[in-house]
Amino acid sequence: MRFAERIAQVPPYLFAELNKKKAALTAQGADLIDLGVGDPDRPTPIHVIEALARAAQDPATHRYPPYEGILEFRSAMARYYQRRFGVNLDPEREVMTVIGSKEGLAHLLWGLVGPGDVALVPEPAYPVYRTHTLLAGAEPYPLPLAADNGFLPDLEAVPAAVLDRARVLLLNYPNNPTTGVVDLGFFEHVVDFAHRHGLVVCHDAAYVELTFDGYRAPSILQVTGAREVAVEFYSLSKPFNMTGWRLGAALGNQDVVFRALGIIKTNTDSGQFAAVQLAGVAALEHDPADFITGMNQVYAARRQVLVEGLRQAGFDVKAPLGTFYVWAPAPPGEDAAGLAARLLEQAHVIAVPGAAYGKAGRDYLRFACTVEEDRLREATQRIRAALG
Ligand code: PLP
Repeated sequence: MRFAERIAQVPPYLFAELNKKKAALTAQGADLIDLGVGDPDRPTPIHVIEALARAAQDPATHRYPPYEGILEFRSAMARYYQRRFGVNLDPEREVMTVIGSKEGLAHLLWGLVGPGDVALVPEPAYPVYRTHTLLAGAEPYPLPLAADNGFLPDLEAVPAAVLDRARVLLLNYPNNPTTGVVDLGFFEHVVDFAHRHGLVVCHDAAYVELTFDGYRAPSILQVTGAREVAVEFYSLSKPFNMTGWRLGAALGNQDVVFRALGIIKTNTDSGQFAAVQLAGVAALEHDPADFITGMNQVYAARRQVLVEGLRQAGFDVKAPLGTFYVWAPAPPGEDAAGLAARLLEQAHVIAVPGAAYGKAGRDYLRFACTVEEDRLREATQRIRAALG
């Protein structure tokens, strides 16, 4: 058998590989504590489940949904952006349903870049930005995110020759995996930079609701002039414990959403089940702020347990203001990838080696606060024992 050459360019998806190791250890009877994938452990709110059940009984939802998503969901997204960020969007022209932001981000890259083009991709980063740039035949240019720069890219350091070929700038704040956060001033600078260099900005807002200690994350669409250059992906996965439902939206620049993304997408998939989109309306319209505030209190308390436990185990970590991750430099003398492997084998704790998010992450491990506090305490005790 021979496969396409492009398959050789990208590694197997990390979490698919981790799932195999996890299954093998679980089959041997290991009591694993999974701080790996960022997958909320608490259930989806009951009113969302009930809305799905009601919608699924209506035969109208059983047929192909409109390609761009049902107008009820896109209108609910637009109303939500108005309430949450003060941003006015036209649901028919500036909002499209996606089957989770992973799908939207991947397909958008196919509509934006090809051979000879460059995508400016932060490093470390959610792997999809880089892998789909490569799969689309384009070149990712890494923008290092370092602790001493608050995990912000230095856009002015990108060489002019690279900018000439660059079509898109990918960003994600609050950031996975570094937990870096930004204020609106940063996005203002980004929008200005994109205007100056003819770039599309693609902001992945997957963690925009997951913030602590009074910090509220902005949307890039709050910046005046943003919709001329920017698209943002909002995901219902993390704020509403809906990772399995596969629901999000692409919002912003009309050409980017409906041509670059829309042409690839409508030729590839046939949209998300209308009943799931109607459940999404319930999530966005039924006291979302209450639910999100409650979950953020849960994550903030867990974050404290994890940060304190990791400090006691010898990690030098700060409590993050956003995301449900802790991005921890490996303790002195420890190799991060080796340590992640040791934690899995000896402590039965899953942490992600930072190199999985690009070379710039190689000295770090990422831990997710997606288990209850007692399990986090147990995990950090086991980590302490493994580090001896
Ligand atoms: N973007 C980032 C930065 C993520 O970390 C994730 C998931 O972990 C996603 C996007 C994918 O989210 P969705 O479930 O909406 O596809």
